[in-house]
Amino acid sequence: MIRPTVATVSADALKQNLRAVKRLLRPSGVQRPASSVPDPGTLDVGRRTTDGPGVIAVVKANAYGHGAVEAARAFEAAGADMLACADIEEGVELRQAGIRAPILVFGALSVSDLDGLFDHRLTPTVSTPGAATRLEAAAERRGVVLECHLKIDTGMNRLGFRHDNLARTLPDLVKSRHLKISAVYSHAATADDPESLFLDEQRGAFDRAMAALGAMGLRGARRHFANSAATLRDSRTWYDWVRPGLILYGVVPPPLHAADLELGPALSLSSRIVAVKGVRPGESVGYGRKWTADQARSVAVVPAGYADGLDTRLGNKGVALVRGRRVPIVGAISMDMLTIDVSGLTVSPGDEVVLIGRQGGEEITAREMAATIGAIPWEVLCRLGSRIAREYS
Ligand SMILES: *Cc1c(COP(=O)(O)O)cnc(C)c1O
Repeated sequence: MIRPTVATVSADALKQNLRAVKRLLRPSGVQRPASSVPDPGTLDVGRRTTDGPGVIAVVKANAYGHGAVEAARAFEAAGADMLACADIEEGVELRQAGIRAPILVFGALSVSDLDGLFDHRLTPTVSTPGAATRLEAAAERRGVVLECHLKIDTGMNRLGFRHDNLARTLPDLVKSRHLKISAVYSHAATADDPESLFLDEQRGAFDRAMAALGAMGLRGARRHFANSAATLRDSRTWYDWVRPGLILYGVVPPPLHAADLELGPALSLSSRIVAVKGVRPGESVGYGRKWTADQARSVAVVPAGYADGLDTRLGNKGVALVRGRRVPIVGAISMDMLTIDVSGLTVSPGDEVVLIGRQGGEEITAREMAATIGAIPWEVLCRLGSRIAREYS
């Protein structure tokens, strides 16, 4: 049994996107600008000069709507060095599905049940003093050394230890007997804004934090910093690993472009016409009578609505593809349905309707849909609802 509204996810596209990012990172003989402050703690890490930085593939939020397990499998097969999740529960789901790559958990762990970390070999982020205390206690109780990544806040002011206060907050953690800091990372606030100089500021703060950690005795820790946008914008943010999400799904963070990176959108969203009806001039369609036919029109009903994650702002604004043509979404988006104007086309129930993806020579990208409604492509993708079947090709 399968509903007509389906997200088709190409595992090949996911793999190819990961490989394309790895190619971008591979040293081409061209010297990259070095970090401004060398980090004594990572000088012994040699891989960067041979393979280029590693890739931590971000699969949080059900892999941006693509299906966490399938996406994780694809990235693992294509050579991801690590995967990353938002919380322990997401990591456990991957382990239970047989994913074996190392898995980083981004989230704050101050109120989480920590058992999953130990039972399923997840790598936690230590991003607050409270998390450090709880993780240390949990590892000690089990008599193990827990490998973790340390998060430094270089200006996002969300999670992480303040970059300018480390001497006060971190010496105990660096010396911890039960927590081993294997990597240090930070997160960029404005990487997708090409005008913003804040990325450089954050990178500088990160370099200074690494030097401070080295002075406290931290050795051998790898560094990662770059989300998709930073990966595209500045190779000085690559460090030992990059940490992209969106580009692995084949979408470039707007307003950036990545002409020399071969990315393909991995997800398309399609449905089928379930009814076609004539509307007379002056008659309206749907809730709130938000669209009125100016002349005799033909309207098709598509069984996908806001319960499936389609934004209500697509009402009277969005487009769909039918028979290789772009047609407007007319009237309000309902919970389970939307309506499109198919005047002049010969359509019947069963015909395919593409909401994201290609049909004929036309394409609607997640980026276009996001721009139409004043949202961001991350949101458009990860809101695709659980009622939509995912089919993998
Ligand atoms: C979501 C996330 C990423 C990936 O961001 P993209 O913009 O999708 O590349 C990287 N790092 C952290 C900490 C994140 O939360």
